[in-house]
Amino acid sequence: MAARREFMHTLGLFGLSLPVISKALARQQSYTPSGAGQPLILCSRDEYWAKKVLPPAWAAFSASGNILDGIEVGGNVCELDPEDTSVGYGGLPDENGIVTLDASMMYGPTHKCGSVAALENIKKACSVARLVMERTDHAMIVGAGALSFAKAHGFPEENLLTEQSRLTWLEWKENLSNEDDWLPPADKDYYKKLRKRGTINVLGMGNEGEVAGLTTTSGLFGKIHGRVGDSPIIGAGLYVDNEVGAAGATGRGEELIRTCGSFLLVEKMRAGKSPQVACEEVIERIFYVNKGKDQVNFNVKMVAFNKDGDVGVASIMSEEGTSPYASIITAQGLQPVPGKVMK
Ligand code: ASP
Repeated sequence: MAARREFMHTLGLFGLSLPVISKALARQQSYTPSGAGQPLILCSRDEYWAKKVLPPAWAAFSASGNILDGIEVGGNVCELDPEDTSVGYGGLPDENGIVTLDASMMYGPTHKCGSVAALENIKKACSVARLVMERTDHAMIVGAGALSFAKAHGFPEENLLTEQSRLTWLEWKENLSNEDDWLPPADKDYYKKLRKRGTINVLGMGNEGEVAGLTTTSGLFGKIHGRVGDSPIIGAGLYVDNEVGAAGATGRGEELIRTCGSFLLVEKMRAGKSPQVACEEVIERIFYVNKGKDQVNFNVKMVAFNKDGDVGVASIMSEEGTSPYASIITAQGLQPVPGKVMK
């Protein structure tokens, strides 16, 4: 029973695939801002994932000069990597064992945006979101329509459920309730757990100061089939403004939808707040709508940069006992950026 509760706490309640430790941690290190108007790409991950995501993203950006190409390649790295159980291929499934993806992209110079939600069987969800932005007059396409749209653009239909994700789902299903007919196996080693980070934001600034961003995810593990989170909702999981900067969110999407978290963050930066203060104030807003931080038992993490290349990171709870991290890559190289835990 205790083991079951612990499992539910880790996966169901927080909707993340991480043990979350509510210990207040201040920013532990500093980093060097890239400087006003200097190109940069930011991902909402620590160094381990940043080393996978950011060098290919920077290479794609350097090759074409288009910041959208850079961020898209960064998002694709996670979408194609089965080790990442929260994005694309190998993402953790919904309550029916079906992997459904949400993704969005936004471009500052045109203020155009595109997103897909509840997309099945297509690995590169953020690339489909980019096509919604660039090749349609719509902002969002969902479900079967998103799948047809992706296929029309030549994306192959593929199974997104890996063996690891299936086993994690089965363990969740079999331990969910004592009042259903699912029973766990006697052999506790039967399940091979793989629990990694949730969602990714990739935000960038190009050679002419063009601001862009994307968010891509398989959403909350065990969600009701058809549930859409914040990631494809412009203003919730992603927002950019070419005069101001970019913001992205991960964690409990419902809270980000009802606070318009990423839009709020960009507007705070427009009003003169630093990215760090703006990230922290969005978390404070989430405490406020929940009637106090003591009522909050989920995690949300905000990341942002402004046009000066200054970066902010804040989360409600810590990630595996450490600061929440983002990482940036610039012409000077890659550096992790530690953030602040607010609870
Ligand atoms: N924000 C995502 C969602 O609510 C989940 C996550 O970031 O872990 O769908």
